[in-house]
Formats: sequence, structure tokens, C-alpha cells
Amino acid sequence: MTAPNAQPLASLDEWEDDLKARYPEAGTPQFKATDPEKKKEEFRNYAKNARPSVREFYRLNHTYQSHDFVRAKKADFLKLNRRRMTVWEAAEFLNNLVDDSDPDTDLSQLQHLLQTAEHIRRDGHPRWFILAGFIHDLGKILCLYGEPQWAVVGDTFPVGCKFSDKIVFSEFFSANPDISNPKLNSRLGVYEEGCGLDKVDLSWGHDEYIYHVVKDRMPEEALYMLRYHSFYPGHREGEYDYLLNDHDRKMFDWVRAFNPYDLYTKSHEKPDVEKLKPFYMDLIEEYLPGKLSW
Ligand code: FE
Ligand code: FE
Repeated sequence: MTAPNAQPLASLDEWEDDLKARYPEAGTPQFKATDPEKKKEEFRNYAKNARPSVREFYRLNHTYQSHDFVRAKKADFLKLNRRRMTVWEAAEFLNNLVDDSDPDTDLSQLQHLLQTAEHIRRDGHPRWFILAGFIHDLGKILCLYGEPQWAVVGDTFPVGCKFSDKIVFSEFFSANPDISNPKLNSRLGVYEEGCGLDKVDLSWGHDEYIYHVVKDRMPEEALYMLRYHSFYPGHREGEYDYLLNDHDRKMFDWVRAFNPYDLYTKSHEKPDVEKLKPFYMDLIEEYLPGKLSW
């Protein structure tokens, strides 16, 4: 078995490319077929075509993202005592994350953030929505602290209750320690029916981290986008509805409104960072001025 600190993905983008293969169109469910046999067949096709690196990434993610693991990471990283940086500094810091991907076809982290935000801007959305697009992946700086890929990216899911079989590569949960703990492996696990997502621990990664960095300073709609943008089992598959309250359900419309900008705006046309910088500096100044704690 590969060590848990292995980095199977050539780049973090490989996870997002895989998401696009699984969800080729905005707003469509994972498997459109309603016939369960056809569904299984489509899943087999997806699983067969998934890259070995992506499969290994999910194996690690599903094996090690346990309830205890998530609690420990939250207790550590959510002290936000690692760095003091402005949002722009954090974006430049994240841009140090260069991986093995082909430099001709792949975008830097900053370019992905700008492409996402610029598409939101072009569609005439409010300024806080544009800013949410710009900062949504800043939590990936976790990688630069030495965290393994499987603890930074990947579809997120609740821990502390039964793992849904609609989570991609759910078979890998058989190696997760929580699966043999009856208290954690029941439908509700440690939660109450309809308790609301704020009370639920999702698998640890870049979403939860950036949410905590900005949580007192941005509109709630933006906070939902940031905190749940990787929660594909929830916002795309409709799983775990029994943990949501009515407020979550309403707010998830915003998470779903954000998703297409994250997943489908990547193009080879590289945004001009220097030209766009003044607009984004203003936007940062409006909502998130000064140095923040990371
Ligand atoms: Fe993300
Ligand atoms: Fe993203």
C-alpha cells in the first residue's frame, strides 16, 4: 500500500479534469440514465476510464479521511496561526504551486482564479460573487504547508455517519477505520436529523479552510459557495439531504449557481494578471482589506 503522504496526481488539476469527465455538463446529474442497470454500466465506464493516478488519489482520500482525522486537522489549521497575508499575497503564494502539468495547456492557480472570477463578472453578478470566484481555491495553500493532495482537494463528504455509495469510488471506504465503528457507520452517525450542515464535519480540504479565513467578512451566500463548492455528493448528487436544514437547502441554490464557473470556465485564453490586478485589489479592499490570518 502506498504511504499516505504519496502525491499520486501530477497536478491538482487532475482532480478537476476528472470532475469534468464525471459531470460533462453544468447542472446534470452524474448519471442521467434512470434505469439502474444503465447507471451501473455508466459508472463502470467512468471507473474504467478514470486515470490510475485519480483512482489512487481517491483510494488514499477515502482510506484516511476519517472522523478523527478531520477533527484533528480542524483543531490544527483552524487556529489560523500560520501566516498573516493579504488576499492578493495569498493568491501569489498559491501561485508557487507549480506541478508537472504541461505549461502550454495548463493554467497557473492564479489564472484559474481569475478565469472563474472574470466569467462571473461578465455575467453581471454582484461584486461579492466575483470575489468568491477569485478566492474560492486559495485554501489550496494547504499543499504549500506540506499537506498531501488527498487532504486538500477531492469531492468532500460528511464524516461521522455512513458514507454514501454515490460518492465517487465509494468502494475505497472499506479501508476507512470509521466503517467498523457502528457509532460512525449508521445513517445519522453522530448527527441529528436535519441538524444543518454547519454542525456536520465534511472531509477536510481547501473549502473548509478558506471559509474560516473569511467567514466574518463576506455575505452568507458567498460563504456557502466557498465552504461547499467541492461537496459534489450534496450539490450534484442530492445525497445527505437528511442532514440539511431548510436554510441550507435555500443556500445551496447559490452553491449550484457557482459550480459552473468553477468547473466549465477553463480555457486556454490566459487572463492578463497585471491588467486585472487593479480591479481585484479594489474588490479585496472592499470586503477583505488588510492582512488576514491563515
Ligand atoms: Fe476548489
Ligand atoms: Fe476551483
